[in-house]
Amino acid sequence: MNNCCSTISSTTDKTISDQQKIVLISPYDLGRQPFALAEPAAVFRNAKYEVECLDLSQQKLTAEVLASANVVFIYLSMLTATRIAVEAMPRIKQMAPRARIAVFGWYAPVNEEFLRGLGVDAVFGGESETDMLTYAESLSAADEHPARHQAVVNLKRIDFMVPDRHSLPALEKYSQLIFPDGNRRVMGFTETTRGCKHLCRHCPVVPVYNGRFYAIPADIVLEDIRQQVAQGAQHISFGDPDFLNGPLHAQRIVEAMHEEFPALTYDAVIKIEHLIKYPDFLPFLRDSGCILVTTAVESVDDTILEYLDKGHTAAEFEQVVSLMKQHEIALAPTFIPFTPWTTISNYIDLLNKIAELKLIMSVNPVQLSLRLLIPSGSRILELPKQETCIIDFNPASLGYTWVHRETEVDVLQENIRSWTEQAESEGLSRLEIFNGIRRIALSAAGSDEKDVTEEQCGEPVPVHSESWYCCAEPTEQQLASF
Ligand code: SF4
Repeated sequence: MNNCCSTISSTTDKTISDQQKIVLISPYDLGRQPFALAEPAAVFRNAKYEVECLDLSQQKLTAEVLASANVVFIYLSMLTATRIAVEAMPRIKQMAPRARIAVFGWYAPVNEEFLRGLGVDAVFGGESETDMLTYAESLSAADEHPARHQAVVNLKRIDFMVPDRHSLPALEKYSQLIFPDGNRRVMGFTETTRGCKHLCRHCPVVPVYNGRFYAIPADIVLEDIRQQVAQGAQHISFGDPDFLNGPLHAQRIVEAMHEEFPALTYDAVIKIEHLIKYPDFLPFLRDSGCILVTTAVESVDDTILEYLDKGHTAAEFEQVVSLMKQHEIALAPTFIPFTPWTTISNYIDLLNKIAELKLIMSVNPVQLSLRLLIPSGSRILELPKQETCIIDFNPASLGYTWVHRETEVDVLQENIRSWTEQAESEGLSRLEIFNGIRRIALSAAGSDEKDVTEEQCGEPVPVHSESWYCCAEPTEQQLASF
């Protein structure tokens, strides 16, 4: 199939001598080969730009790539990526002295003011490829000091292109799927939609997409899968914010994918509400190769779920656990256990519920230490200030600082975070880490119960080898790329 499935075209007809160079940088994308670089790379190449991609999770910033850049676009998908970009900005500016710096992705428009202060010239959000192309075309090499470009958040449908992945590192360098028996599969990553039709209060997608989502045409997604299978992918991880925002669209793609590649397995992120709403979808998912569903449970306390506007209850989470067992699809629940509404008692309830549902092996331990992030534009800011415990905005952390009204809860979170980090570095099992966490929480409550036993653990599930959470502070290793 032709690599140009779109009507996007350049308004300029460049010769080699006036060709402009675009560098697309992804600071970090959860260990995935970034769709968000490969798709605009195709758009710019189609418009006859020279394009280079730099994925800082795999590559270093180099003057060789950056010195001749006219525009550097940095993809800010999440907090970790944005923090890395902020640290890297002085080096990027130094290595690309002629280049305008532009940013795109969920974290770009909501942090516009701060990013402008670092020297960012243009800010794009939402469906941004066409605007990014228009921006590049509007720049003149002779114009050294033009007025800064207005931020653009586009929520109109754009024409997509098949991602151009050829200048990104090989798929086997990225996160792999690891089975409980240690077998590994090379993973490909793609998306069938962007944005989300839901309005969960804590979610960073909402301030940009505000309840909208956009389907990427099936032929483009399928061609992207085809090219990744040709590069060795044995499993596809769908990175949509929610795979069932458009269930018929997802079904069409998965049916065609399974027919063409019957041995290919896949995983996706699906919210509890959708798993309940489309129960007939579950046998279809299983029979078409879906072996893992990640679902954002966040809490097993209905009051907290209401604060987060999650659209499900604790009882519905339990219903989903049994539905997934019935259909033999592994479930990886994620949580935000520490919120302004967490108590030591409801934290212990969460741990006990995980054990009762035999999910200890399914929950990445880092999930039990996470603290609610409140970025700019978050719908959490709609709640009365006294309920959110917000103190102020902290530019260094790109979010609002909140302090729990009970100091013991913040102390508990810090103790659990540091224990989990230490236990993971020592290679302890999920059960050992879980029991360590539970002992810390029980002792904070003045209680002393027996550890959970192996029989209560549940079955191990396939995991991605990259377990870092999207909203964590960057590690030393991540910062080493520049
Ligand atoms: S369903 Fe997921 S992606 Fe959509 S708004 Fe809620 S948390 Fe965000």
